Amino acid sequence: MTFRFDNSWARTLPGSFLALQPDVPAAPRLVALNTVLAAELGLDPAVLEAEAAAWFSGAELPAGAESIALAYAGHQFGGFSPVLGDGRAHLLGEFLDAGGRRWDLQLKGSGRTPFSRGGDGKAVLGPMLREYLVSEAMAALGLATTRALAVTATGETVLRDGRRQPGAVLARVAASHIRVGSFQFHAARGEQDRVRALADYAMARHDPALAAGDYLGFFDAVIGRQARLIAQWMGVGFIHGVMNTDNMAISGETIDYGPCAFMEGYAPGTVFSSIDHQGRYAYANQPLILAWNLARLAEALLPLFAAEEAAAVAAANLRLAGIAGIYRAEWLAVMRRKLGLSGEEDGDGALADDLLAAMAGADWTLTFHRLSEASSGDLSRLQPLFADFTAMAAWLPRWRARGPDPVAMRRENPAVIPRNHRVEAALEAANSGDMAPFEALLAAVRAPFVAAPDFMLPAPTGFGRYVTYCGT
Ligand code: AMP
Ligand code: MG
Repeated sequence: MTFRFDNSWARTLPGSFLALQPDVPAAPRLVALNTVLAAELGLDPAVLEAEAAAWFSGAELPAGAESIALAYAGHQFGGFSPVLGDGRAHLLGEFLDAGGRRWDLQLKGSGRTPFSRGGDGKAVLGPMLREYLVSEAMAALGLATTRALAVTATGETVLRDGRRQPGAVLARVAASHIRVGSFQFHAARGEQDRVRALADYAMARHDPALAAGDYLGFFDAVIGRQARLIAQWMGVGFIHGVMNTDNMAISGETIDYGPCAFMEGYAPGTVFSSIDHQGRYAYANQPLILAWNLARLAEALLPLFAAEEAAAVAAANLRLAGIAGIYRAEWLAVMRRKLGLSGEEDGDGALADDLLAAMAGADWTLTFHRLSEASSGDLSRLQPLFADFTAMAAWLPRWRARGPDPVAMRRENPAVIPRNHRVEAALEAANSGDMAPFEALLAAVRAPFVAAPDFMLPAPTGFGRYVTYCGT
């Protein structure tokens, strides 16, 4: 027995899911197995190798799995949908790892459910390998994230973006799949008892130290986790692309990798998603959307905050007003680490802000990576990243005067991120059956602080403006 299942969601939260089986694929084949993650979870690699194609494609479920599709609602690009839910995913259950920690095991791309609306319930190989690759990069960079355990091909072809593509299923491991939208689902239906039951459940899983019924403490904990996560996204230049409330996890993990990508040249308005016409989820808007989404969570939790509505609103507003400051402190902590600064000084915020103002257009990742060399005065590799170095030349002495530690900086600022052109090339090769470029890129992003010249350069100008699609 490889998975020690204990399916608390199915047992505890009636009315929040449907019991359904994944589709049985035509000809399942294992494409990628995350043996690194399997080892971390204490899963038996030999058993996984043997069973992966069946278990992680939906062909045959591991003993103890109880497949369910979760209900949730969500604000998508600001508009509320009262019923979304797992339209192409099945939660197989929760398993306990070797250390006793609880993890969701979910299949994505595993077929239609009553939540599918117009969708086909399927996923295709490129986007599932993309989620695998980017989430491994995020984990290696030290960010909280769901992880991919395997990608299998179903043997079918699926029409996506006008092309027939190989069908695929992603097996995903998460601390949980409780989303802001999970609470909104019950709140919108006036199911206050179920909002409470879900909050109790979420607290037991993620905040066991809180006293029973301390829902304001729970809200504070979620604010803290999500603020820290978004600050870290900003630090590595990650743009999620679809920060809808159904894609924001209570656990504080990055979840639902769709049209996400890493920014190359620093530009606050950077958007990659083809459907984000207004730039709602642009790089620099992410902290604002963090607060907006948390306000939606507060609305859903409101009746739990206090018996009297006025008192509940006051408690919620107090916390919502604090989010900007909490986020700023998290961001400043990230920036201090990136800049090699120890301790806290009053001028640090202005120092960080002024660096951004001086960085316009310069490659985000390489600027920080090469900044450590500039602490001792070597500008030979930093300067070529800038079209105009005037503002940086004025900023550098201020930073040096603060005494940065170049060794600490090298542990903090990655050399390797999943560069968009490398990701696209790897996925294209994978689509035609060649996994070698994917494996090479995966190995590089798993060791992001080790210089790997092949994977460090920005996209050549011929690559053009990068656009990602939601038809994932
Ligand atoms: P996402 O944009 O991936 O976060 O998904 C938003 C909603 O659309 C969720 O309820 C998904 O389950 C659903 N969905 C996305 N793609 C599909 C698909 N191909 N078939 C059915 N439902 C889908
Ligand atoms: Mg989603």
